[in-house]
Amino acid sequence: MNILFINPPNVPFSDKNILIEPIDIISLATYIATFGHKVSIIDMDTEQLQADDLEHVFDNKKPEVIVLTLDYHIPLHTTGTLIEINLIINIAAQHNIKTVLGGKTATYFPELVFEQCNLLDIIITFHMETALSQLLKEKTWDTPVLSTINGIIFRSANKIIKNGLQEYTDINDLPMPDRRLIDIDHYIEVRSILSSRGCNGSCSYCPTPSFWGNWQGKSATLVADEIEYLVKTTGSKKIIFLDDNATVDNQRIIDICNLIIEKKLDVSLGCLAAVNTVNTDLLKKMYEAGFRWIHYGLESGSERILQSIKKHSTRDMILKTVQQSKEFGFRTRSSWILDLPDTEESDLEATIELISRLETDEIRIHYLALRAGSTIHRELVCDRFPSQYIHNSFPTVITAKVTRKYLQNRIDHLTQDLSKRNYVIIKSSADMSNFFPTKANSKILSFIPLKYGIGW
Ligand code: SF4
Repeated sequence: MNILFINPPNVPFSDKNILIEPIDIISLATYIATFGHKVSIIDMDTEQLQADDLEHVFDNKKPEVIVLTLDYHIPLHTTGTLIEINLIINIAAQHNIKTVLGGKTATYFPELVFEQCNLLDIIITFHMETALSQLLKEKTWDTPVLSTINGIIFRSANKIIKNGLQEYTDINDLPMPDRRLIDIDHYIEVRSILSSRGCNGSCSYCPTPSFWGNWQGKSATLVADEIEYLVKTTGSKKIIFLDDNATVDNQRIIDICNLIIEKKLDVSLGCLAAVNTVNTDLLKKMYEAGFRWIHYGLESGSERILQSIKKHSTRDMILKTVQQSKEFGFRTRSSWILDLPDTEESDLEATIELISRLETDEIRIHYLALRAGSTIHRELVCDRFPSQYIHNSFPTVITAKVTRKYLQNRIDHLTQDLSKRNYVIIKSSADMSNFFPTKANSKILSFIPLKYGIGW
């Protein structure tokens, strides 16, 4: 079959200067190609294409099926993207192209998604590999055939049919993502890898444990081989692990580090980690192997809030881990959610104080996103679409027990404080453009998505 994978456009389009390749879609398309299908990818966000622009793409590529994802692994899309997805599906239907949608919104809200996208053929829930590969083996997608494929949701005679859960493909059986499927020059110079899925944590604002399930990691050998390939064949100098939490299995990371050292790979590495999944020995080994950047999602400086969101961290752990990371020489990024549910003035003060005290090189301020699949979403707005965009630049729903005015006052105070300490303040794409490249090693306080690979 001829399959076109589509990364739908963000609404508005994402800032081109920060976009990293959609490694989740590349990985899925590469896997599907192993079944003999012809696959291609179009990244509508990077190419700044709107639904109408697909007319000529469909005429040229003549796909039989398009596969769309919305908030699959990398959460860049706003809820407005679903409107674009509906337009894309309508155009595909005019061309007799079958349509498949995966990702968190479709998994958790199939009824609402089918209502909004009424020509959509199939939703694939959770991990897409197994169900999609089975679906694409079938020449006809009628009810008796579709009923045999676990992990999909479809409509039949105006009813929504939800099949049972699919068996997940072992992450170790996935081939190395074929980055030739996209034009790598359209993206920033930092390459990404996905070395694991899921997380054993239970942070209440995060859909990762629910969507991806128990953490599973690729073997150290596979990960080191992929890094070696990127370094030796594409000349990559910086690679970031985009895993939600790369350091769940410390021994695996140590094994990866040992292989990188053994292979003498000249590369700088970065990853996202949780403070409760790293320790001194691990940080030391990571630095030795070339890790130079680490992002900790810290979220709050209040013990009470850390407990209520089930973060499994404490102020002491945060202070110790960030301090150690800085001492080893990592460039550190911390991220914070200022308006977590039940946050009182004293909690916000504790958070602002900790942000200020830690002085991580990059500070990313977030407001709460009610993400599909998260505990907070289930508890607060269980039957409505989530406000899933994690990059909102102002609070969309106030779940904290502080007023917007108070919140803004404390943010202004923090901004002034950090400005005096020579932090560059980034509030808009224009700020980001002005900032690069002259001050690339600066400390940064940002209220919008930051480019990866600054200063390391
Ligand atoms: S540690 Fe990170 S990935 Fe894991 S549940 Fe918490 S926020 Fe999600």
